[in-house]
Amino acid sequence: MVRNIVIFGATGSVGTSALNVIDRHRERFNVVGIAANGNVEKLAQVAHKFSVENVGIFDPVALNGKTSLFAPSTEFFTGEVGLCELARLPSADSILMAIVGTAGVYPTVAAIESGKTILLASKEILVVAGKFIGALARENAVPLLPIDSEHNAIFQCLGRGGSEFASRLIITASGGPFQNFSREELERVTVEQALRHPVWSMGKKITIDSATMANKGLEIMEAAWLFSMPSEKIDVLIHPQCLVHSMVEFRDGSLLAQMCPPNMEFPISNCLFFPERGHSPAQAMDLGAMKCLTFSAPDVEKFPNLSIARECLSSGNNACAVFQAANEVAVEAFLDGRIGFTQMGDAVSMALDAYGGEPMTTLESCLNSVSEARKVAADVLRKIARRT
Ligand code: NDP
Repeated sequence: MVRNIVIFGATGSVGTSALNVIDRHRERFNVVGIAANGNVEKLAQVAHKFSVENVGIFDPVALNGKTSLFAPSTEFFTGEVGLCELARLPSADSILMAIVGTAGVYPTVAAIESGKTILLASKEILVVAGKFIGALARENAVPLLPIDSEHNAIFQCLGRGGSEFASRLIITASGGPFQNFSREELERVTVEQALRHPVWSMGKKITIDSATMANKGLEIMEAAWLFSMPSEKIDVLIHPQCLVHSMVEFRDGSLLAQMCPPNMEFPISNCLFFPERGHSPAQAMDLGAMKCLTFSAPDVEKFPNLSIARECLSSGNNACAVFQAANEVAVEAFLDGRIGFTQMGDAVSMALDAYGGEPMTTLESCLNSVSEARKVAADVLRKIARRT
């Protein structure tokens, strides 16, 4: 069966990896649409290579004077409304959502409501609106296939039985580049150092989040919504080799782990071919050549984002949306050189103290909290910048 797919975030790291997998299996996949924020040149290259006729661009200004880069028959979808329309494209049966941030929330809702299978990489969507997205997917009997490597690992370990018999989810973490740094050394970390992940090659935002372990905090939230598990049943273990991508412990004491090389093409391929399995996207692991696999508990004093994330989840309101938005603003400020590495965590805590979110009544209320939290975090950052 050929899968007709629209790729949101087609110019990014996950989008590019997905296109690499698809390129090797043209007989199985047909890219019927692509979308990005404003990188028109790269979208045009992808459109030509995969003969894509439906192109989404969030920022319509970026398209000015550049439509001639595309084939004359190309149909353009601009702004949020356009991306939602693209998500409902009648010729598509699936969407792969890999937009960074929350701009993919409404296109995802549109795709679910029109019955498309969702291959989901954008963790922010679940963090902010997991309660509503999960319910909507169940209501519409739409599969939500997780691309994030840890969640894809859990998804594979759970199998068809789902989380009914699972007693604990264990999310593994590379630990990022600074596990052995002291607090004082962390204070002096530069942007360049933080962007050098020891194992994974990813977009800038998620690379910084890996270094601060905010990414694991977001992943705990993501897992809680995806697999209906409370925070206390989701553990995190540092596993620097990045070969075990996560584990599930079942009530009979069995522990299942999913392993593969640290390459996003593996979980992407798993979702693209689901429920079948494609051929390995890269050389498989040589278990005999492995010296050791290590697991250890994270240092939550040094990386407070993990405990903060758990508190947000337990609060019962939309504090997760506040965490996500405040962290996003803090990462932007760090990348711009306005604050230091450890001040990102400080900014998130201070923003949560100033504004802990509101009851999760609707999807709109969660998105409103994101906007409110961004303003609060910007205020907090001004105070932090004045102090230093
Ligand atoms: P990148 O920064 O590499 O790419 C982001 C993509 O999102 C680009 O295509 C960008 O378009 C697009 N985009 C940004 N804003 C908008 C918008 N408003 N409307 C439409 N498109 C937009 O990110 P990654 O690929 O690293 O990550 C994507 C998502 O996947 C994130 O949520 C991340 O947390 C998650 N993820 C990533 C992993 C990885 O290995 N990279 C692993 C697991 C999850 P443009 O180029 O035009 O700016």
